[in-house]
Amino acid sequence: MRQSRTFIPTLKESPSDAEIASHRLLVRAGFLRKVAAGIYEFLPLGTRVVQRISRVVREEMNRAGAQEVILPIMQPRELWEESGRWAKYGPEMMRLKDRAERDFGLGPTHEEVVTDLVRSNLSSWRDLPLNLYQIGTKFRDEIRPRFGLLRGREFIMKDAYSFDRDEAGMQRSYRDMYDAYARIFTRCGCTWRAVEAATGLIGGDVSHEFMVPAAVGEDLIAYCGDCDYAANLELAEYRRAEPACGEGKPASKVHTPEKRTIEEVSGYLGLDPERFVKCLMLLVEGRPVAVLVPGDREANESKLERVLGTVEFRLFNEDDWRRFPQYLQGFVGPVGIEVAEVIADASLRGAGGLACGANDKDYHLVDVEEGRDFKPHRFADVTSAREGDACPRCGGSLHVEAGIEVGQVFQLGLKYSEAMHCTYDDEHGNTKPMYMGCYGIGITRLMAAVVEQHHDERGIIWPVEIAPASLHILPLDYQREGRRAAAENLYRSCLEKGLEVLLDDREESAGVKFADADLIGIPYRAVIGKAFDEDGLVELQVRATGERERMSAKRLLSRLADLGVRIRHEA
Ligand code: ATP
Ligand code: MG
Repeated sequence: MRQSRTFIPTLKESPSDAEIASHRLLVRAGFLRKVAAGIYEFLPLGTRVVQRISRVVREEMNRAGAQEVILPIMQPRELWEESGRWAKYGPEMMRLKDRAERDFGLGPTHEEVVTDLVRSNLSSWRDLPLNLYQIGTKFRDEIRPRFGLLRGREFIMKDAYSFDRDEAGMQRSYRDMYDAYARIFTRCGCTWRAVEAATGLIGGDVSHEFMVPAAVGEDLIAYCGDCDYAANLELAEYRRAEPACGEGKPASKVHTPEKRTIEEVSGYLGLDPERFVKCLMLLVEGRPVAVLVPGDREANESKLERVLGTVEFRLFNEDDWRRFPQYLQGFVGPVGIEVAEVIADASLRGAGGLACGANDKDYHLVDVEEGRDFKPHRFADVTSAREGDACPRCGGSLHVEAGIEVGQVFQLGLKYSEAMHCTYDDEHGNTKPMYMGCYGIGITRLMAAVVEQHHDERGIIWPVEIAPASLHILPLDYQREGRRAAAENLYRSCLEKGLEVLLDDREESAGVKFADADLIGIPYRAVIGKAFDEDGLVELQVRATGERERMSAKRLLSRLADLGVRIRHEA
């Protein structure tokens, strides 16, 4: 690529809506432009990065035995009715009608289409296992599209679907994909962590997410410093400490005028917040439920979802407090409360010396004991793990960090094959449903995640495998005797060797060229300047470290190959 002829509209200023580094830098460096919220154009350099990530993904998917296909974005309603997801997916699915008023959805994911393809065309045990994948555009009308490519409404995903005869086969396919993902993310240059994950709208029982640790990540992950336990905070467990016990004193009522929050009451009574029982009032499918958690802990929404068995719940709002006046906002507590269900966090089992609301205005109770003064209907894990909690597996210390979910793998089991009658005949002629798995990688999200991990104040620092080019040739003072010819020669020999290269053939000052090169972030740079005049040498510069090394143009290519740059037509 000749920079003078390549469409790279770099900007001095960051776009005003860009809150995070990857968004700012990808726009400023001329990789990306916004069309509407969550909808972007990929300019030539951005397109090349998408292609290079896709190349890594293809190589590893093919190596794992998956076959590439192209499935439609526009999908008929009928298929989504079969799985029940036409209704379930809600407004996140973009929908449209054709000229005959038939309903279609724009695929947010492709389980329905691919299951239909397989059920209609395969029926023998001999055809299995099968793994089909595609790299294509997905649509999700996210509530909050933001952070540039991290949460788009139109984005590029690699999705794969495996079909197996039995559960063991599905587990093998899953393992193969997991291993392929590990290779993909490593090759793309990120540090990553696989964590146990919830399955959400996709479904199934077993799932892992691949997380790229980054401060801007929207997910929180707990992982053990001592063993390999790692899970999304949505389901991460932690070992409860022995509950504190009381001194056997009877519970007593104390006057706490106008003290409603945990902080206010604990300050007033001089008690640790963890000795408080927070009594959360939830409206669950229209009826009140009390959830008890220690005062220093947060209830975890995803855990509640699983414990309650529904997504239809919320904390009491003002209307609910009015509608159920028997519950006194700020003074509710578990002792004597009348409610259909009381669920307590596991850490409260057998605890004593507790304080809680007295269900009486301006009063709290102290010296309360679980079991003696109140008995929940059930105990469950409803609170989030946090830094320093004990690992559920080994008792070691858990750490919590933010991460970007770049991929997720699911064992779907029979969810779609049963709903959509995707069956095969086994060797004895018995008809059986296929065991499925599905596997996604957000290609464009991964591009942004890599930038989050690899940049400095001057710009992007691309890992070699996915850089828009491997080498940036920077002839300084282009007009100076011999430099232009040397740059052109080097450019030509790079092209002959199949090296992906950008030549800055613009009549710009050295300062401008370096600033743009830093911003764009091509990992290696061949500077043709002083060293060339003195000794006929080029200076190889490493974007990440700033290291410099003088060498002949001839040696440059073999040096780059040593550094891991892929040279297509290597002799
Ligand atoms: P999230 O929880 O972040 O909304 P998800 O779990 O709904 O994502 P999946 O259904 O697992 O996403 O999709 C597979 C992959 O597609 C994700 O791991 C992620 O990398 C990518 N992805 C999902 N939603 C988006 C989006 N709105 N923008 C960009 N990439 C996305
Ligand atoms: Mg996911």
